[in-house]
Amino acid sequence: MLAGIVSDISQQVLRTDVAGMPLEWIDYREAVRLYHADQVAYQTGTLLYTVFGGYSSYDGTRSKVGVNSIIATHGTSQGLSRDRDKYVPPLNNRTLFKRDANLCLYCAMRYPTRDLTRDHITPISRGGGDTWNNVATACRRCNNYKGGRTPEQAAMQLIAVPFTPTYAEYIYLKGRRVLTDQMQYLLAHIPRSSPLHARLSDHLADGAEIVDVHFHE
Ligand SMILES: [Zn+2]
Repeated sequence: MLAGIVSDISQQVLRTDVAGMPLEWIDYREAVRLYHADQVAYQTGTLLYTVFGGYSSYDGTRSKVGVNSIIATHGTSQGLSRDRDKYVPPLNNRTLFKRDANLCLYCAMRYPTRDLTRDHITPISRGGGDTWNNVATACRRCNNYKGGRTPEQAAMQLIAVPFTPTYAEYIYLKGRRVLTDQMQYLLAHIPRSSPLHARLSDHLADGAEIVDVHFHE
């Protein structure tokens, strides 16, 4: 059973390693499991919710766990810490569109996710790869117009340089609803030179949570 305090139960928890490096988003079940398994080294952020367990047959008290928005845990995720710098996140449309802030990188208009496509800047038919650096968010109209041509051939110009997200950036991109304290935490792990750094800083200055309204599963 669960008592919500600050936010609803669907709010994801940011899990980090003991050194504070962001690892992944976890749900409340996984968070409670980690607390019970004594895997939580320390917690930061804010209290999200309190999860109540069963009554003790020994003394009648009830177990409860307060789950914070950011928890540092022992152990790592898939040996990630070692290869973090070389990590290339998997490419998928949801995180690609979020990387580009739902803007068509050709006409600079913002669209709902359903109206966006993945454009291969150098078309696959011309040897371009299906990789972060060769893909751009494009509206259907621009993508159709460009067809099997390169931007030069189509006389189209990209409004931003495509980039491969770092690990911390990818975690941010995957977040469905990123709370202010989680955003601040991730921001500290995102290079200042990254376009996402500027965007997150702006969001924080506005005092707004980032809610992924375009999310479709
Ligand atoms: Zn467009």
